Amino acid sequence: MAYRYPSNIELVRESFARLPGIGKKTAERLAVSMLNWDDKHIQEFAQQLLALQDIKHCKICGNLSDEDICDICSNTLRNPALLCVVETVQQIPAIENTGKYTGYYHVLGGRLSPLDGIEPEDLSIDKLLSRVEQGKIKEIILATNPDVEGEATASYIANLLSNYTVDLTRISRGIPLGADLSYADAATMGVAMDARRKMD
Ligand SMILES: [Zn+2]
Repeated sequence: MAYRYPSNIELVRESFARLPGIGKKTAERLAVSMLNWDDKHIQEFAQQLLALQDIKHCKICGNLSDEDICDICSNTLRNPALLCVVETVQQIPAIENTGKYTGYYHVLGGRLSPLDGIEPEDLSIDKLLSRVEQGKIKEIILATNPDVEGEATASYIANLLSNYTVDLTRISRGIPLGADLSYADAATMGVAMDARRKMD
């Protein structure tokens, strides 16, 4: 039988191992290294984790927020004519850090993936349509990932929006095919946004 650390360490190790990109070995190293933390640091970390439960999704765009409405949606100085549709909340920092985008966002909460059972009703597409129906939005930038599912999601939405008088643009294909925009750096994202093209 494999050697096991005392169970409290094993439990923390298992929790770390649930995180994306953290393998068994790394999880073990993290858990054991935390034994060197002083009590105050450990308690703060535990409280920070608990406080994650208070994070909400913005009622307008789906971004992460401390309040019902996120900082971006509450900012009336942004451009109401521009809406950027992203798959995940993690794409927002990359776009914000370009310093070039002044519009608002809409977080789909994923992308269409029939094989994984993710259908249109699983994404916040209805909410997107009702935002468009309010009539202020002039351009919608479809910033879903440049892979097969991301493209299919963009086409699906473009199709739904074809009856509205909005310009539909797609971020540049200059970004590598299959790139995960949730982790794109600001420079890459800036290029992709600048080179966006009108969809046919
Ligand atoms: Zn928001």
